[in-house]
Amino acid sequence: ELASRVREFHGDGATRDGREVQLLANVGDGDGARSAAEANAMGVGLFRTEFCFLDQPEEPSIDQQVEAYKAVLEAFPGKKVVVRTLDAGADKPLPFLTDASEANPALGVRAYRTSRRDPEVLDHQLEALARAEADTEANVWVMAPMISTAEEAQAFVDKARSYGLRTAGMMIEVPSAAIMADKMFEHAEFASIGTNDLTQYVMAADRLLSSLADLSTAWQPAVLRLIKSACDGAAPHGRPVGVCGEAAADPALAVVLVGLGVASLSMTARALPDVDAVLKSVDFADCQRLAQLAIDSPTAEEARSAVRSGLPVLE
Ligand code: PEP
Ligand code: MG
Repeated sequence: ELASRVREFHGDGATRDGREVQLLANVGDGDGARSAAEANAMGVGLFRTEFCFLDQPEEPSIDQQVEAYKAVLEAFPGKKVVVRTLDAGADKPLPFLTDASEANPALGVRAYRTSRRDPEVLDHQLEALARAEADTEANVWVMAPMISTAEEAQAFVDKARSYGLRTAGMMIEVPSAAIMADKMFEHAEFASIGTNDLTQYVMAADRLLSSLADLSTAWQPAVLRLIKSACDGAAPHGRPVGVCGEAAADPALAVVLVGLGVASLSMTARALPDVDAVLKSVDFADCQRLAQLAIDSPTAEEARSAVRSGLPVLE
């Protein structure tokens, strides 16, 4: 592991040879955003808006939403804040939006899919977000969770733009979206890969079951190959791809993600200094070489040990 001396991140994420990697924070409310700003996060890569309303029985009013979103945006004036629309369902049920009686909630009407049944909830949220952006100096990028098809990507982006939100994209966390990335980026202006759900769905292993932890890791080469597919689909369109799942907080995996073409990594603010230190120890060409080693490994364990032994800073 990295030497345990106190380390700080100075808001300048990059490889040793100067390829910029935006190091961003995952936040769930204004308090989280303020502490991420103190930790010098370069912006927010994932604002989990559902965290603001987890204990609410009813849909929050538009005014209440504007206040909740402004609390986060105000912590990052002039900076990029990626706001995710409500990701309700499965591990994050919202009583006003999800159906507790579904047999398989992880595969059910969750996240963006709830707008099939309750389109007005998404409309209200986009309206609140546009108002919050207008009242602050933040640069809002809005994205929807669990987009599965290019039609959904297009419908979401069109709807976000109709509310005046200028930068609209999607999460890539369903395998179909990674496989079809070239088509997704005809609509989405950016994407953020949610490695927690992407891993759950490609490995068919419940992310909440610790007994399946060996399967539930983004070191699985099958997961890495899907991340590569997402990056390769974005490149011809010149669209940026980030990662906002737990994988971004693992310094050795962060090197692999950058090598695959990921431009931003969003993580718990605590992880920023270690990820930064490891990226600053390698050139971009090293990231690419280590990413290839990981992709070519037959198992997660071999991918991890091949990459870690190529990173002397971790010895
Ligand atoms: C993910 O799925 O990786 C992700 C970032 O979103 P969440 O953990 O909130 O589902
Ligand atoms: Mg997810």
